[in-house]
Amino acid sequence: MDLIQLYTDKCSMCGLCIDVCPSYDTVDMIPSLCDYIQSGGKEEEGRPLEFDIRLCYTCNVCTVACPEDLGIRKLISASREKKTKIRGASEEQGLVDPFSNNNIYKKIGEWENPVEFKNEGRKSDVVYFPGCAASCMNKVVGKSTVRALNAAGVDYSVMSGVDYCCGSVSAGAGNTVPLEKLGQRNIDEINARGSKILITTCPGCYRAFKLLYPQKFENLNFEVLQTSEYFARLLNEGKLNFKRDMDEYFKSSAGDDGSTVGSSTVGSGNSVGSDKNDNPDGKLRIFYQDPCHLTRALGIYEDPRRVLSAVPGAELVNPTPDGSICCGFGGGVRTSFPKKSVDQAADVHEYAKSLDSDIIITNCGGCMKNIIEGGYMSGKENGPENAGLPVYDLAEFISIACGNEPTERDDLKLIYLSNKSLKECLTHYDYEPFEELAADYDPDLK
Ligand code: SF4
Ligand code: SF4
Repeated sequence: MDLIQLYTDKCSMCGLCIDVCPSYDTVDMIPSLCDYIQSGGKEEEGRPLEFDIRLCYTCNVCTVACPEDLGIRKLISASREKKTKIRGASEEQGLVDPFSNNNIYKKIGEWENPVEFKNEGRKSDVVYFPGCAASCMNKVVGKSTVRALNAAGVDYSVMSGVDYCCGSVSAGAGNTVPLEKLGQRNIDEINARGSKILITTCPGCYRAFKLLYPQKFENLNFEVLQTSEYFARLLNEGKLNFKRDMDEYFKSSAGDDGSTVGSSTVGSGNSVGSDKNDNPDGKLRIFYQDPCHLTRALGIYEDPRRVLSAVPGAELVNPTPDGSICCGFGGGVRTSFPKKSVDQAADVHEYAKSLDSDIIITNCGGCMKNIIEGGYMSGKENGPENAGLPVYDLAEFISIACGNEPTERDDLKLIYLSNKSLKECLTHYDYEPFEELAADYDPDLK
């Protein structure tokens, strides 16, 4: 059914979607967006946009709350696509466009080489697709995933970097050109390797292969799994063998790997092991951050919990996604409204702390980066006692639990370079709260 007809027929204007939305506060935007979408094709002929559609995190909280499975996001996405068709791609959209010179991953690549994966370009049963983010920015995610695969004895190859962008994040921002151009080529490459399983880390890549590509392209002769789904399968098959009690591990080595640097730098002292004695059952209390684009959009929340629950010495404080909140990264909000986005990420720490968590585990490179930044900024602005909890990637945690050494990472460098890349790629980006890190991390000062 036509989108506008769907809302005309089914939306009762009950406002349940607005009640839960972190960005908007009036249900009047529903008829307004419908009018915008169906009005004339050119801006001067059509109805002007009355609401700032850049404020949407694309978190899908509104869709889940809607009794008719509608919400506001569907209208936002259609409005963004229409706006792009009228005005062309915006500077922000160029940030994740692999054909743009303003691509932030290419920009970071000018300062630091992307991860050099060993298994590129070979035939294999399994292909790992880390995506631009885990290849170029939040590299700990890509490195840790292959370490976990190695520990499980998986035969895999890798398709990494901006060259193999999936196009999904760009499409989510309203620019579908990269997805249209690259989708079939990505599929053909996987088929050429004779692979039967594709695993992705990034929820955007997963959405591309799982949902968007089958609607547009042909010959997806392979199964598509998110990392957590594949880990759950390896666990069922007895191939994911945990060798560490993670409560003992964190008690004895918290902070040694630098993973708590974001919080310890601001003097919080809230390293993972610091409050372990308060846990009567002697288990590491994990808050699993549900990525919006995996949990609400694609229904993946049981497998990551199943895997984490199987780790010796660990327990989940949130066994279901009920009450989960957006990290603030998605939908382009991080680039257009950085302060709002980082404040939202700080709220994740507060929520996790309210559940008496020891650490936060993420399952998305964007969530991880934003939540690290939110915890750091909270400590800087509000005092060390308000700094965030340590943040780990799911694959990173699993890799360590399998007996690997911790994956090297530098959270402050990640924060600094990601902000510097945005500053250099966006003319209006004036968010500069990290001057104190420049002496250590600015490549132009070295
Ligand atoms: S919750 Fe659904 S039915 Fe209610 S106003 Fe929002 S979109 Fe319409
Ligand atoms: S997707 Fe999230 S931010 Fe966007 S309209 Fe829905 S609830 Fe609000």
